[in-house]
Amino acid sequence: MYTKPKIVVLGAGYAGIMTTKRLTQQLSADEAEITLVNKHNYHYETTWLHEVAAGTINPNQARVMISDVINPNRVRLVYDAVTRVDRNSKRVELENGELEYDILVVALGFATNTFGIKGMEEHAFSIKDIDSSRQIAEHIEYQFAKYNNSDVQDDASLNILVGGGGFTGIEFVGELVEKIPELCKQFDIDRDKVRIINVEASPTILAGFDEELVAYAKKSLENRGVEFHLNAKISECTEEGFIVGEGDLIKAGTVVWTGGVTGNPILGASDFELNRGKVSVDEHLLDPNSENVFVLGDCSWVMNKETDRPYPPTAQIAIQEADVAAFNIKALLYGEPLKSFVFDNKGTVASLGKKDAMGSVFSSTKLYGKKAVYMKQVIDNRSLFLIGGPKLILKKGKFRLF
Ligand code: FAD
Ligand code: NAD
Repeated sequence: MYTKPKIVVLGAGYAGIMTTKRLTQQLSADEAEITLVNKHNYHYETTWLHEVAAGTINPNQARVMISDVINPNRVRLVYDAVTRVDRNSKRVELENGELEYDILVVALGFATNTFGIKGMEEHAFSIKDIDSSRQIAEHIEYQFAKYNNSDVQDDASLNILVGGGGFTGIEFVGELVEKIPELCKQFDIDRDKVRIINVEASPTILAGFDEELVAYAKKSLENRGVEFHLNAKISECTEEGFIVGEGDLIKAGTVVWTGGVTGNPILGASDFELNRGKVSVDEHLLDPNSENVFVLGDCSWVMNKETDRPYPPTAQIAIQEADVAAFNIKALLYGEPLKSFVFDNKGTVASLGKKDAMGSVFSSTKLYGKKAVYMKQVIDNRSLFLIGGPKLILKKGKFRLF
């Protein structure tokens, strides 16, 4: 009896949900059985998580019910956590079951990388998903609510310490500069009592990015009260805060680590060959040790042949990979030639709160201020459009005016 080939996609982030969408567009229901597995019944916009963490958007705005954007009559939706992939028996182990596949797509996203820094896992928050981000926002609010209700007011408890001045750390402090005055008003606390401190090991924030844009971002944030500690390597995180440099302690009631990411630990648990926590995929986005396992997004390294270095893990590249992966899955089913992945870099724009941003688009055009804010909104809304069309933009889109 003929059985349809089984395609299983793990993870409904940018890479997984877009691969699934493209597969439903390129294959008819008779050609393959498609299954999408995700921990939750919702997709979230990972690129908005710093806003959830600062409390500047409602977590629900960043969440999209998967069944609203993927037709459950066409794709089998499994809401469960993947625990292991067994490539020999072509099975995926889940917390509550097991699945068989003929072709697999691993798109399980990132995990926070603490580089083994003592105390970081135990004492610092990190921006990982909706729940961890919401917890940060609620913790900050709790520190403010507690302050005037304590017998001894501890000013350090109001401090927010952010470790790592990469794009996540910078976008997060950008949101905080707008949220903190609101909280101060709400809880009757003098704004001058609250410090927002970013600690970065390198001599600059956003190392490697355009120097003019970096200088703009730093000045914009400093003008609104962010303190930067540069050349300050964090060696330990304690209950009280970070230990940096020669052993100085910076105290804070809220400590957030944004110092780096790596691939999902499921990769290691599944015996994939790893390079700094991720799979270095071939030009077709296949695991080099499998003929039928694609690894996408933050679980993979894709080499930039011009620089001989991997591309940074971003939503932009994850979405582009999904198109090629879906094409190659169909090609595999029909024994046709596979397509090579070529990254089309459309630029990088970073928010500095809701009213400022900076970035570079279309290879060299630099944007600052309002123009960059609008561009960032266009990028955020485009992602919604790709996932759920105009209806989703109307429901969850960003249309802020000054
Ligand atoms: P994700 O989008 O993270 O999705 C992974 C999915 O897998 C999730 O749905 C998760 O629930 C699911 N999952 C995880 N583990 C399991 C499991 N065991 N079982 C089942 N399901 C599981 N990039 C940009 O290009 N532009 C930006 O502006 C930008 N801003 C960012 C802001 C922040 C705060 C952060 C943290 C990152 C940002 N990035 C940005 C990077 C970008 O978000 C990631 O590169 C992108 O999300 C990677 O997509 P992905 O599909 O690999 O993973
Ligand atoms: P990252 O690795 O880019 O930055 C981490 C920062 O932490 C680095 O500047 C590093 O020097 C610093 N750091 C590491 N160890 C430290 C220590 N011990 N003490 C002090 N500082 C330390 O990580 P990220 O910012 O989470 O970004 C992850 C990925 O997501 C990147 O590819 C980034 O481009 C992407 N991203 C993009 C955007 C955007 O395009 N707007 C926004 C957020 C994230």
